[in-house]
Amino acid sequence: MEFARLGAPLVRQLDDVGRACVAEVEEACPGHRCYVCGDAAGGVVRACGCAKGRDAHLACLARVASRESEANGSYPRWDRCAVCGDAFAEPAVRLGVAREAWAAAERAPDDDWRRVAALAGLADALGDLGLDAESAAVRRVEVGLRRRHFSHEVDRELGAKAKLAAACARLGRCDEALALRRKVAAGYAALLGEDDRAALDAVVALAESLGDRDRVREERGVLRDALPRARRALGAAHATTVAVVKALAVSLLYGDDDDGAAERARDAAEAKALVEAALVAVRRAHGEGHALVDALNAHLHHANRALGPVKTPKGYDPPPETPVNTPVPWVPPR
Ligand SMILES: [Zn+2]
Ligand SMILES: [Zn+2]
Repeated sequence: MEFARLGAPLVRQLDDVGRACVAEVEEACPGHRCYVCGDAAGGVVRACGCAKGRDAHLACLARVASRESEANGSYPRWDRCAVCGDAFAEPAVRLGVAREAWAAAERAPDDDWRRVAALAGLADALGDLGLDAESAAVRRVEVGLRRRHFSHEVDRELGAKAKLAAACARLGRCDEALALRRKVAAGYAALLGEDDRAALDAVVALAESLGDRDRVREERGVLRDALPRARRALGAAHATTVAVVKALAVSLLYGDDDDGAAERARDAAEAKALVEAALVAVRRAHGEGHALVDALNAHLHHANRALGPVKTPKGYDPPPETPVNTPVPWVPPR
């Protein structure tokens, strides 16, 4: 029987990480009983904050999620507590449960959906821990399996490719990320229509990869094309529309397209006008305290700075120059 493989070095690393996860979370509850099997022996971890789902074996948590999904016909949720429904707070617990789920599904045939679901859960959990290289390696196997055996689930395949592209982009594999994102953007447009939110989000991701490869004209082209569609379909204050605006503003302000001073000033003015219009719409729809207002204010600050001497609005702290949402790679405890 044919099995999609993860490769021996990756499996060894997963075992190391898995052991470290158990050691890390186990320390919190020595002697406690697993709420699933009632046993206190062998690696009971502090899984959730709720009273009933607190302590459990990772393998028992994987079994509970698989049983539930078989009963209600949905994909298993290995990343959350089956008792209260909250996501496990510890990424190490999420990875531990996903790893047990993979161990249970490893011998299932390649066309068994449990196998591809286990790979997806494992890749997600690795990504949550900032282990992008390992997550991408697992995701690649998942994408291959989906292409071969689950091609009818087009949206899930596109979702997996989008996540693989994001991991590749973070790893600096810009060409691979760009090629994947072209396919994902075209795939969502064909499946759901060009005005669908998923298709527009895919355009924003594609633009990021085009910018990474210095294809500034094409980057601005796809964003300028997407913006009126996003405004019309989702509204000017929608998070996806604002994401298009922010991406276009960043490209106009920082995209290096060898323009002269006059063109750069014109680009900065266009960026400022776009951001100001989005701010008006977002303030009107969501109020002053909304997170999108802060994000757009940061872009307005950069646009103003590009246009001349900095005029910082009263009471506004200029944003840091580095992105704040970069995941911090997880280091196993010693
Ligand atoms: Zn148990
Ligand atoms: Zn819970």
